[in-house]
Amino acid sequence: MSLRARAVVARVIGEPVTVEEITVQAPRPGEVTLRLHACGVCHSDLSATNGTIAYPLPLVLGHEGAGVVTAIGTGVSRVADGDHVVSSFVSMCGHCHYCQTGRPQLCVQSLKTLYTLPDGTVRTHDADGAALNVFCGCGVMAEYATLHADSIVKIDQDVPLTPAALIACGVMTGVGAAINCAHVQAGSVAVVFGCGGVGLNAIQGCAIAGARMIVAVDTSVTKLELAQRFGATHRYDVTGETQVGKALYKLTGGGADYAFDCVGSGKVAEQAWGVLRRGGVAVIVGIAGPAETISLNAQQAAISERTLTGSYYGSARPAQDFPRLIGLYRSGRLKLDELITRTYPIDEAPRAFADLREGREGRGVIVFGR
Ligand SMILES: [Zn+2]
Ligand SMILES: [Zn+2]
Repeated sequence: MSLRARAVVARVIGEPVTVEEITVQAPRPGEVTLRLHACGVCHSDLSATNGTIAYPLPLVLGHEGAGVVTAIGTGVSRVADGDHVVSSFVSMCGHCHYCQTGRPQLCVQSLKTLYTLPDGTVRTHDADGAALNVFCGCGVMAEYATLHADSIVKIDQDVPLTPAALIACGVMTGVGAAINCAHVQAGSVAVVFGCGGVGLNAIQGCAIAGARMIVAVDTSVTKLELAQRFGATHRYDVTGETQVGKALYKLTGGGADYAFDCVGSGKVAEQAWGVLRRGGVAVIVGIAGPAETISLNAQQAAISERTLTGSYYGSARPAQDFPRLIGLYRSGRLKLDELITRTYPIDEAPRAFADLREGREGRGVIVFGR
């Protein structure tokens, strides 16, 4: 039986999102239906609305959701009705080369779930009966969503669902880049470029790992102030600066052990590489535009033994990492509530996107059913 649900839909590139009543079909084998409680509004959702990431429209947005399972298809054994779950925008099959070698963030199934469920179809239709694609196999910026069970992770019932939703994208991506990908060591020095939703979490990931110096780099004074609340020990405003590398080299006392490009820009990636001390690790976390390139000095790359690597989805193993992050939240070491600058009812989704576009700091979250 189909459900009716309000959903946030991108229809036309460059136009505001629409809030529509859609139908959500019952789960097929291997799938589940969720009643969403909350969904973060992420920069990637905005990128789908303005064409920076080329998704076929119309598209139900949302990939940072948390909710309650209301129906399960045949063959689903990991979750049951009433379970609390968080979405994973990387669908993890569990048996491909990457899943089997501990890197499910690179799962081949995720390439089949860019805008549909793994079988290439969707359970979502608009009022005219036309199919609606779903963001990364999720489409959880809606009151209900039917997803493949490989796209959700069960969490404990006593964790509030609104902060839990943030784990699904921004927190996992930023904290994971620090602790899963860079393996930040206690007593080290880190520089984080870009203090938006992901950058703040890279900062708190470095803090959780015990970095002794964490330099936040941005052009926004308010974002830099926020960064200090998430563990940055120093801040550097790059507005109008032309000698960024030199200044940061001096500030860090000879270079950083780790640097993170949370902006997604070839130029910033080069700056991250440039600020490293010998043997350091630079991690590209932000997703740059398709034409961006990086130029490095090849001789220095060998002599200095620096590493430049990408981290996708915080190099996440969601089934392990989501409960791990929730454990850190429970113990007070991971800030989630403090990331939320504003909540919106679904009818105000266009406002939430406008606020994100205007560069408001922290995270806006759609909270359903209120
Ligand atoms: Zn996201
Ligand atoms: Zn896989």
